[in-house]
Amino acid sequence: MKKVFIRTFGCQMNEYDSERMLALLKGEYIPCQEPKEADLILVNTCSVRKKAEEKVYGLVGRLKHLKKVRPELIIGVCGCVAQQEGERLLKRLPHVDLVLGPQAVYRLREALAKISRGEGPLVDINFQKDFRQPLIFPELDGDRPVKAFVTIMQGCDNFCAYCVVPYTRGREVSRPPEDILAEVECLVKQGVREVTLLGQNVNSYGRKERGFPSFAELLREVASISGLWRVRFTTSHPKDLDENLMRCFAEVPEVCEHLHLPVQAGSNRILKRMHRRYTREEYLSKVEKLRKFCPEIALTTDIIVGFPGETEEDFKETLRLLEEVRFDEIFSFKYSDRPLARSTNFEDKIPEEEKARRLAKVHEIQERITREINESYLGKVVEVLVEGKSPGNPELWTGRTRTNHVVNFSGPENLKGKLVHVLIEGCGLHSLRGRITNN
Ligand code: SF4
Repeated sequence: MKKVFIRTFGCQMNEYDSERMLALLKGEYIPCQEPKEADLILVNTCSVRKKAEEKVYGLVGRLKHLKKVRPELIIGVCGCVAQQEGERLLKRLPHVDLVLGPQAVYRLREALAKISRGEGPLVDINFQKDFRQPLIFPELDGDRPVKAFVTIMQGCDNFCAYCVVPYTRGREVSRPPEDILAEVECLVKQGVREVTLLGQNVNSYGRKERGFPSFAELLREVASISGLWRVRFTTSHPKDLDENLMRCFAEVPEVCEHLHLPVQAGSNRILKRMHRRYTREEYLSKVEKLRKFCPEIALTTDIIVGFPGETEEDFKETLRLLEEVRFDEIFSFKYSDRPLARSTNFEDKIPEEEKARRLAKVHEIQERITREINESYLGKVVEVLVEGKSPGNPELWTGRTRTNHVVNFSGPENLKGKLVHVLIEGCGLHSLRGRITNN
């Protein structure tokens, strides 16, 4: 059996695609841990931030020496950088054999067959018109995971000014509901108890396809699969978050009380320049309504600081929004120019050191809020789905609350895959600690 090494950068969509590539190669390749052992190296890339893209070029560049020693080694670059760069990538890294866009990963086997017939190097960055790829069910062997991702759509039609996704992943296409349900059923049969439905903008699932359910309807159908205990989803666009979806948090017990709702900025002027198509007031009113349906919901968000033209007053609006909403956690970034994104041509760029200052301020405020929220769990008993032993301390178990907080706790053996109750006795910035309780 040949060996494949996969390195994945970026979001959960990429993790999902990497899993699918491994499933496609089953029977011919087995995964290995080191590039030097591999017959095939796949680097699944992300181009959302400049830093991630630079890391990809660094890693693939360093593989050149392996190719020199073993010319039969196949090196493939997949994902968003592959889509964005296409043929240019081969010019910059001539030791690469294969460039595969995110929608072409399902054609991996055909591409490898062509390369072995001497038809490489090969570039496949074609978009699909629909999402009717063959069903590839992962076979979860060995240490089976308790939770899994399931992609329900690809691409995005929103064209936010700073974002490359509509160019690298194409326009929005929803996956047929029967395929999604079949995949979740297969995962549940193999012991998965929690699924996260993935898409760039899950709230607009099915809107372009005739006869497809809405996202809220799909969510209810997925949640009704017997043996599935928890359902999550990401990412949601605030403009498309509607009451039908909000109701699911209150009415469907399997839907976990956590929503990632990227706001990006707190100033209406910047939101408009970003082409986000909601105002600060609309965002806040959706949060308020959501909390009426589900008071215990945990909210997380993304923030970009230093978008071109962001004044000190605009930035303060973002800080005020953090205080107002009190997110459980945020993912915050300094704005960076991306090829193809519209804001790359905006002239009023913010200096790097100012962006760094703003980011540090955002971190300072959010860390306090996260700590306060984590401390509010002290003394409470929470339901945890046990994922396995804690990577940092094999004496402890680890899992997540329904609100998506990591909990490390002590307890008896054989808890993986079980739902347990944990008394929270301590907390840090990134996790809670406790002990299992029958109470
Ligand atoms: S909604 Fe905006 S930020 Fe999200 S993927 Fe689409 S274009 Fe990018």
